[in-house]
Amino acid sequence: MAKLKIGVIDLVSKGPTNTLWAKVMHANLASIMPQVVATWCEQQGHEVTLICYTGQEDLQKELPRSVNLVFICSFTQAALLAYALSNYFRSQGVVTVLGGPHARCYPDDAVKYFDYVLGFTHQATVLEVLQNCSPQKPKGKHLSAARQPAHLPGVKERWKFIEPTLKKAPFLQMVPMLGSVGCPYTCSFCIDATVDYQPLNFEIIKEDLRFLLTKFKKPTIGWHDPNFGVRFEDNMEAIAAAAPLKSFRFFAESSLSILTEEHLKVMQRNGFDALLPGIESWYELGNKSRTARMVGEEKVKRISEHVNMMFRYVPYVQTNFVLGLDSDEGNEPFELTKRFVDLSPGAFPGYSLLSAFGEAAPLNLEYQRANRVLPFPFHFLNNHLAMNIKPQHYEWLDFYDKVIDLTAYTFSKKAIYQRFRANPTSTAKWMNLMRAVSSEGYGRLRFYRQVRKNLAEDKPFRQYFEGESQQLPAFYKNIIQKDLGVWWQWLPAGALEHNPNAYLHKKSPAAV
Ligand code: SF4
Repeated sequence: MAKLKIGVIDLVSKGPTNTLWAKVMHANLASIMPQVVATWCEQQGHEVTLICYTGQEDLQKELPRSVNLVFICSFTQAALLAYALSNYFRSQGVVTVLGGPHARCYPDDAVKYFDYVLGFTHQATVLEVLQNCSPQKPKGKHLSAARQPAHLPGVKERWKFIEPTLKKAPFLQMVPMLGSVGCPYTCSFCIDATVDYQPLNFEIIKEDLRFLLTKFKKPTIGWHDPNFGVRFEDNMEAIAAAAPLKSFRFFAESSLSILTEEHLKVMQRNGFDALLPGIESWYELGNKSRTARMVGEEKVKRISEHVNMMFRYVPYVQTNFVLGLDSDEGNEPFELTKRFVDLSPGAFPGYSLLSAFGEAAPLNLEYQRANRVLPFPFHFLNNHLAMNIKPQHYEWLDFYDKVIDLTAYTFSKKAIYQRFRANPTSTAKWMNLMRAVSSEGYGRLRFYRQVRKNLAEDKPFRQYFEGESQQLPAFYKNIIQKDLGVWWQWLPAGALEHNPNAYLHKKSPAAV
């Protein structure tokens, strides 16, 4: 195989951004798979340049030059930037490949704009691309292995590609690691619920942890497992065997059913500093929080006791909720969440608006069958800029009123102060303060208020939300144009639109 010049682009951001959150955290949100793909390509003897776009760089200047092949990794919110970049590279004869969550969720849309679109990606998948490396027109090739790979290059092998990105993080530098893929739980909205759970090699984990001690005095590691600690004892043994206790700081997303007091004691000894459990709803999805038979007020009390207990062992807890689930009706779910904010003042509540990402979850077929999925451009599909499912039990104005009320309550001066007081360490205090006053708290509140105003005053805007019009409101188009900047001119024709029911069309053509 001829030696290729390959670019790998990890799109953490969908455009330039100057928020405090982006400055501090974006470099810590780099994905693992672009680093893996870069490593595999280099192992085949190719010349590889990887860039992680955090929104701080001048993308035009940073893009890899004179390449034959470009891999782009993108979440759905950065898909339009990815499409524009692909168009730009293809215009210069470069072969383009899309991987990452957007490629998994919307492969039929992505093949219109890329030569290759990758689902589950093994080394053999990448080899196939490298060997065939040729333009695929008019439609790209969708390649996907049957399941996630069981082995991935560890931190030591990926270090060359990790280090330059971490150098962009001014304070906290968090190394991305993976202990497992998939999840044994079956939350119906989740992209990982249908992916077989597979632990990765614990020996490589130990080796990587030891390696990191040669790079940092006390490494900080962000576990990218969808649900960390399913094989709890094995994970903890690997950490304990790697180095003396508290040699590392760990951040992880895990379910409350794993975060029992016994487990938390062990996690505290092993240096876990931040945990992000999902609560999602007061009425459903209880199987992962051990509250399957509990609903409403009782569940709030129990979960809040659990979360407060967690603070005895870890200084930072973020609790994740989904707003607008079909099980929610009336004021109660929002009032219960406000109650939780009062009862667990130290926890940082992360709110997501119910969203259906293409083929991510079988539940999306139901939304599509009921004609409830709205065609918001990908740029807004990040769980908060747009909710692309019409809520079952709320009118839009009412729903936005409730979301605004809850967000304002959560980031009121009183709640911010109580969170600040309840957080046990100065890092947790300042991190939460920054999140509240940056894009996540105040920024979202401003945006929701603007959307609410448009819904009330602008009839075509409202009709788009009701599914009565397909005409994208100028409000949204202007945001995309501004965010893409010079890349707007490279956005391929038709890329602003996608078929919101493509998954259903594919699964049961007769249903449409
Ligand atoms: S526990 Fe978390 S990772 Fe697992 S299926 Fe549910 S939401 Fe997804």
